[in-house]
This record gives sequence, structure tokens and C-alpha cells, in this order.
Amino acid sequence: MPIRDKIRPSVRRIAAQLVEHGHEAYLVGGAVRDLLLGIEPKDYDIATSASPEEVRDVFTRRRSRIIGRRFRLAHVYDHGEVYEVSTFRREPTAEERCVREGDDGVMLWRDNSYGTLEEDARRRDFTVNALYFDVVGDRGIIDFVGGVEDLENQTVRAIGDTAMRMAEDPVRLLRALKLVGLYGFHLEAELERTVREYGERIRLASTNRLFEELLKIMGNARGGAILAAFHDHGFLHWFWPCLDRIWDEPAGELLRALLAERGRRQAADNNYPASKALLLGTLMLAPIRAELGGGTPGQLWEFQSGIDHVCRNLVHEFMAPFPISRFLSARARDICMLLPRFEAGIKRGRVARHPEYQYGYELYSLWLATQGESQESLAEWPQCRPSKSGGPRGRRPRSPRQGHRPRTDGAPVSPPEESA
Ligand code: ATP
Ligand code: MG
Repeated sequence: MPIRDKIRPSVRRIAAQLVEHGHEAYLVGGAVRDLLLGIEPKDYDIATSASPEEVRDVFTRRRSRIIGRRFRLAHVYDHGEVYEVSTFRREPTAEERCVREGDDGVMLWRDNSYGTLEEDARRRDFTVNALYFDVVGDRGIIDFVGGVEDLENQTVRAIGDTAMRMAEDPVRLLRALKLVGLYGFHLEAELERTVREYGERIRLASTNRLFEELLKIMGNARGGAILAAFHDHGFLHWFWPCLDRIWDEPAGELLRALLAERGRRQAADNNYPASKALLLGTLMLAPIRAELGGGTPGQLWEFQSGIDHVCRNLVHEFMAPFPISRFLSARARDICMLLPRFEAGIKRGRVARHPEYQYGYELYSLWLATQGESQESLAEWPQCRPSKSGGPRGRRPRSPRQGHRPRTDGAPVSPPEESA
């Protein structure tokens, strides 16, 4: 099937509307890369010559809103889905770089200088991410940087001066390795050296941004493979020191086995729960088990009084440097603490009324799978199917995300209210 036919009608509609109003608009980034690889994109990004305000004029406030400070762009809503529409950027000049106190003037804190299509391609991170597809006209794939060839050779190559581009934004180091883990690509030699030499710079990125990246990584069925790429390139040590430390220990092996099983389930089920609490519980099960002395193969740990506090602290310790709220760490701990109750198989009715029961059930099921045990013992427990958007019972579902249909009737959703 030609690429054009694989692209969602919404993308074509949005691009066509921009073109009708006299702007340029192309599909760009990961979606073009994935379509060329024969993979269904998980989200679609659109690049345009229109400024964010002009995009809002085209789609009105009912169907769009402007977001971001570091990187301003428009979100456009179409048939229940949200699309990122970003204005062509160029590399900022030295004066335009917003220098912070103690900064060496290299880090890019904002990226809001508008430019042409070709300038936009050159400020993107990697050649395979700088391909455009003309969904409205007949230019097909537009490639200024040799991205098509690198895609064929499965090479991740930075655009421009490698060390400089990585120094500008250290999250690019992580993004390079994500492509390695996701697709089995390799890093071009200079980029590989730069990742090893400057990996430490990832610590300059904001911890909120790093946590967001971690959530994105783990939202992917190949999340475990991405962390393995981090580890193999000496990067995990900087990104997530505690995981790197236990990587080859029994707890690290269990953690990786849990992630591999979770990945298999995510790949097989588009509705696998996206709950942060379940994810954090999954990441914490092995370290908590190691702490509580559960060294016996196939067994969890003995119940001990007063361990709640220890476990909650352990979540914060193990997950450093990510900013985990106390609420989230308490939920992850509660999910883990349910597992020995599943193992003991007593007071089922009471356990089933626990607000985190559905996630405890899923985590216990993951645990059984990693131990090569059958899921039979779960048959005794009340059935439950965790929802995709998740949250303990009674919590409101989250707002629409890219690529997710929050409602099934196909009616357009309005953008969420702008926050004050
Ligand atoms: P995914 O499949 O995870 O969405 P993606 O490559 O589309 O992968 P996005 O975060 O959606 O990743 O970013 C869209 C595009 O924006 C990228 O393909 C790349 O061209 C550009 N981009 C994103 N982050 C950066 C960055 N830190 N520096 C330069 N360009 C970036
Ligand atoms: Mg994308």
C-alpha cells in the first residue's frame, strides 16, 4: 500500500486546511520514519509554515490551542484525536539563545525561532527524524539531510556537529538510544563516541522531562529493549543509576523479566493499562523483594509489620532522580504489598475490595509468568480487567492523548480548558 493511503484522514484534513489558508504543511518526524519502516505510527506530527497563532486562526479556539513555553506549538483536535502542529524552526543565533546563570551558552533552553522548511529539517535531532511527507501535494518524501539512506542502513546520525547538537539538548542522547532499542538501529561512530563521552550531561535536563521520557519509554512494548540499549552504551548509569547498579544482579534480572513480560502483553493488547502506578509497581517489585529478603526462588517475601514505610522510602531511593510524588509512591507500594496476599490466597473478598486490586492482580499475573508458573491460581480470584487509562476505582479518566480515542462516537472533542 502506498504511504499516502496509510496516513490517517485526519492528518490529511489538517494539512489540507492549512494549505487552503496559504500555508505549507507536511507530515514529519517519527510518523514518516515509521511509515517508511512499515510500522504503524503511534502519533502524527505536522510541520507548517504557519505560526502557532496562525494555526489557531485556521482551526479556531474550538479545535486548537497553543501549548509549550520551551517549544511553542499548536494542538489541533480532529475526530477525537489530538495532533501536534509545529511551526518550521531554525537554529537560533547566539544572541537568541536564552543564557541562564552558570550556563556555558550551549544548552538550548528555548527553541522558538521560526524558519523555512529546510532550516526546520536542519534543527531536528537525527537524519531519520528529519523526513517530511507531502500529504497534500505531490512532492512525496522530502529529505534534506540523507535520512532515507540512513534509514535504509539502520543508522542513527546526528544532524550537524554531533557533539554540539548533543550539548545543546542532552535529551537527544537519550533519543538516539531510544531508536537503537526500538528498531535495532546502530549509532553512527561519532554519535556513539559522543554518547559515551557526554552521557553525564543528561543530568542537566530537568527531572520532570526525564520522568516524562521514562514514562514514554515504558509506554512502549520495547521499553525493556530501550533500557538495555541505555545499559549497553554506558548511559543507564547516568540516566537511572540504581537500575544500572542492579542490572546484572538477580533483582535486575527479575526486573528485566517483568518488563519483557509486560512488553509482550502491551504488544498483544492495545488496551494494556497505561497506569503510572502499575508501571511503578512493576519497576519496584524486584527491588522491594530484594530488600525484604525474598531470595528464595519462586517466592515473594514473608509479611513483616512496619514495612510500609520502608517500602515507600525504597521507591523514592530506587527511582532517584525521577520526581515521584508521595501519592504515586504510596500507590506503587500498595500494589506490591498486595502480592503476598495473592500468594497466600486468603481473605479474597477483602483483598478484592482494595482500591488497587486490579493492578495487584495484573502484577501478580506478571510475576507468575516470570516464574514460569501457570496462571491457574488467579482463577480463584474475582476477575478484573484493568482499564487502559487506569486509576484506582472512582477516579476520573484522563484527558485525550495522541493516538488514543477517548470516545467512540467519532464526534470532535473540544480542547481541554486552558489552565489558568
Ligand atoms: P515517537 O515515535 O516517539 O513519537 P518521534 O521521533 O516522532 O518519535 P517526537 O517526540 O514525537 O518523537 O518528536 C517529533 C519530531 O520532533 C522528531 O522526529 C524530531 O524531528 C523532532 N524532535 C523531537 N525532539 C527533539 C529534540 N530534542 N531536538 C531536536 N529535534 C527534536
Ligand atoms: Mg512523534
